[in-house]
Amino acid sequence: MRYYPQAVNFLRILRTLSTFTQRPRIPQHSLLSNRNIILLKSSMPTIPFLSGFFGSSSSSSSSNKMPENYPVQKSADEWRAVLSPQQFRILREKGTEPAGTGKFDKHYPSAGVYTCAGCHAPLYKASHKFNSGCGWPAYFDSIPGAVTRHEDRAFGMTRTEIVCSNCGGHLGHVFKGEGFNTPTDERHCVNSISLTFSEDETAADKKE
Ligand SMILES: [Zn+2]
Repeated sequence: MRYYPQAVNFLRILRTLSTFTQRPRIPQHSLLSNRNIILLKSSMPTIPFLSGFFGSSSSSSSSNKMPENYPVQKSADEWRAVLSPQQFRILREKGTEPAGTGKFDKHYPSAGVYTCAGCHAPLYKASHKFNSGCGWPAYFDSIPGAVTRHEDRAFGMTRTEIVCSNCGGHLGHVFKGEGFNTPTDERHCVNSISLTFSEDETAADKKE
């Protein structure tokens, strides 16, 4: 399947935006101006698509509760104590870093492992990473079992959210069937802020 590059990039950016906790950068060619969004928001505050822009989604409102079914369990206050404000916003409140700004966006080491910035569980190997051109780190696969998928209905569309299987920290989303020449044709679109990198793959190998 072939796409028009500009259109598909725009769609990728739209789909990757999830729950900003600060005002997002709306693409200039967006049909909605900031003023219109504000007017729409005030008149229809419960629509998930619009509330997603302003970061007060229903999922983030539950961030004060203990997460479910993950080996690492911390309260919001405990996470705040060990994460930077940016890390907390993205890992625990499902935020998204602006496209093209993450430190691992153009990071292509020959070996190593990307670990969860919240709990240090190994998530992706350097060999999983590929250049998608979308503005966020992209991986065609994860270390087996390291990443858990959830359905995400924010923004008026159905996407697949990915979280760390060890602590439930939000990583990003996974997209399938975009036509990338990778073994899986999947793109794990991950926030750099959710990750740390180690050149030592030993920990990841033990997990496999
Ligand atoms: Zn984690």
